[in-house]
Amino acid sequence: MTTQEHELIIIGAGPAGLTAALYAGRSELDAVLLDYGFPGGQLLLTEMVDDYPGIEEVGGMELSQRMAQHAEKFGIGVTNGRVTDLRRDEEARFIVTLEDGTVYRAPAVIITSGGTYKKLGAPGEDEFMGRGVSYCAICDGAFFKEERIAVIGGGDSAVEEAEFLTRYGSKVYVIHRRDEFRATAVLQRRLLENPKAEVIWDTVVDEITGDDKGANGLKLRNVKTGEQSELPVTGVFIYIGFTPNSQFLSEHIAHDEAGYLVTDRDMRTEIPGLFVAGDIRAQLVKQITTAVGDATTAVFAVEKYLTELKEAEQATELEEVPTASP
Ligand code: NAP
Repeated sequence: MTTQEHELIIIGAGPAGLTAALYAGRSELDAVLLDYGFPGGQLLLTEMVDDYPGIEEVGGMELSQRMAQHAEKFGIGVTNGRVTDLRRDEEARFIVTLEDGTVYRAPAVIITSGGTYKKLGAPGEDEFMGRGVSYCAICDGAFFKEERIAVIGGGDSAVEEAEFLTRYGSKVYVIHRRDEFRATAVLQRRLLENPKAEVIWDTVVDEITGDDKGANGLKLRNVKTGEQSELPVTGVFIYIGFTPNSQFLSEHIAHDEAGYLVTDRDMRTEIPGLFVAGDIRAQLVKQITTAVGDATTAVFAVEKYLTELKEAEQATELEEVPTASP
């Protein structure tokens, strides 16, 4: 199979990847955007987006399609394929291999492959996803004003987001499978001091129930006593872990303790030519707006990098031209 050469390879077509494609196309870079399935990434899991400036309300699916069309308008559509490997060759060019064996080669790569929320695996979770079940409090919390909300998990994310959700919900229940949180002390204290929050310890979710309107409750089980109960809630936020999608990396890139890739302010990693944007990047929040901003910066940094690389290579070629003898 032949190797396809480009100036830039973008891996992942969520909001960050689609924005990178838009700006790369607009800058007339020779770029390819790789993803499998529909473009949109985590946006496809979001029923309604109400915090994208200038668009008061838009469905996650619709915003994905509009972003993809916008990138296409500037000449870069999504090339279908699952990336299985990313490494450098002896000329320090990036070699990206797809599952079907197709190989792409470029001097610059932007990784925008995001991450995957860990799923609970309880009946009803898929059925009511986007209709009560959510993995993003900042995105969806406002849809549950004065309603009863449940948060599942006991780590930093669950405890922090549960406290955040108390500004919307009439009551926020945190359901944790053990009798102590793993979340940091300060986050725990804030939650436990909040009168709107209540923790249900030693408890797992056996089922998320609902009807045509969406989720309406949880079937719970105490793991110590076996006692079963029902909890009426309309919002169910699942925070039991998030895995950055970096399995295809054969190069080591600096990352934080949770696996998010570390960049400088221009989205550069420690490897020259390798940039990272969006949810896979180590940063304070994971939002559509931050993904879009990261990706914009990344493309301008790529352009600068490619120009400098070209100049450096031309200078080396000139040095190598033998001087004529007198
Ligand atoms: P996490 O630390 O891995 O915590 C996951 C939580 O979900 C744990 O309490 C775990 O229970 C529970 N859990 C896992 N699988 C479960 C299942 N199948 N059923 C029920 N409960 C389950 O994940 P995270 O909270 O998303 O945090 C990820 C990383 O980001 C961490 O390093 C965290 O420190 C960091 N983070 C930091 C901040 C901050 O500093 N403000 C905010 C968010 C995240 P057990 O405790 O029993 O294992």
